[in-house]
Amino acid sequence: MTGAGVASGAAHRYLPDMTEPLPTTPSLRTRKPDWIRVKAPTSKGFAETRQLMRRLNLATVCEEAACPNIGECWTKKHATVMILGDTCTRACAFCNVKTGMPRAVDPLEPGHVADAAAELGLEHIVITSVDRDDLKDGGASQFVKVIEALRKATPSTTIEILTPDFRNKHEAAVEAIVAARPDVYNHNLETVPRLYPTIRPGARYYASLRLLESVKRLDPSIFTKSGIMVGLGEERLEVHQVMDDMRSAGIDFLTVGQYLQPTPKHAKVAEFVEPKTFAAYAAIARAKGFLLVAASPLTRSSYHAGDDFARLRAAREAQLARVTA
Ligand code: SF4
Repeated sequence: MTGAGVASGAAHRYLPDMTEPLPTTPSLRTRKPDWIRVKAPTSKGFAETRQLMRRLNLATVCEEAACPNIGECWTKKHATVMILGDTCTRACAFCNVKTGMPRAVDPLEPGHVADAAAELGLEHIVITSVDRDDLKDGGASQFVKVIEALRKATPSTTIEILTPDFRNKHEAAVEAIVAARPDVYNHNLETVPRLYPTIRPGARYYASLRLLESVKRLDPSIFTKSGIMVGLGEERLEVHQVMDDMRSAGIDFLTVGQYLQPTPKHAKVAEFVEPKTFAAYAAIARAKGFLLVAASPLTRSSYHAGDDFARLRAAREAQLARVTA
């Protein structure tokens, strides 16, 4: 899928017991540290969000990737909708979304996403998708239709999109999406370039960077955002280099979270990165000039995205005030 930067914890389409690690492989037998543990989702808000997604026939990356934050997010009615179906044309080593030949694009999907945003009363929505290398435009026109439907149905909802890399067609795809004016354009780099051949073999690091650079060049008012997972075997200096590359591409907001192995077939966790290391990454990233940084073991692309959007806006206003003072 797009690389939601969502490290996961269980098999496809059912929710795991998130209080205990899965006892299936050596790396999964290794107990997760205390800072990774989360409560099982049991709230009324969680059940209501789930029912709504079922009724509107919408997939969410929260479920498909078995995100560990689902209990917290869905209780608050925050869900990340995954458009263009639930089947991805890629097979990244970190991602739990199923791979195969996707179904035809659902023309009702944009309306259903808008209905969900209206019913949930969302101030901010995050829309992501699977990779659709089978489509001529990579699915860009469906992103545009979803943005247009949201603007019509819930004009005050701010829109964040988390797109695929639109490999070999990113210029036209990005132009179309930028013209629809989402508030935040997110595309995750996922990991350091050295690990791409094993972790993200269908993608190219510099193509992803160029995509984000294009968004900023085409419309500097759109916030750009990108994220990486750590714990995959990367070195700290490699992470610092990714930060520099992101800043060169004008990226405003960086997210850094712990990779968790979804199933024994996926890439193993090389390391559970300690919270103090996340704090150090965050301090370095801020010093490098990101407008906003979210770095913690449970940080995911869309975790607390609404609150973070308010912070992004405030940070930009503060920056502009400093320039004009
Ligand atoms: S962090 Fe994002 S993907 Fe995970 S449950 Fe929350 S909204 Fe869904």
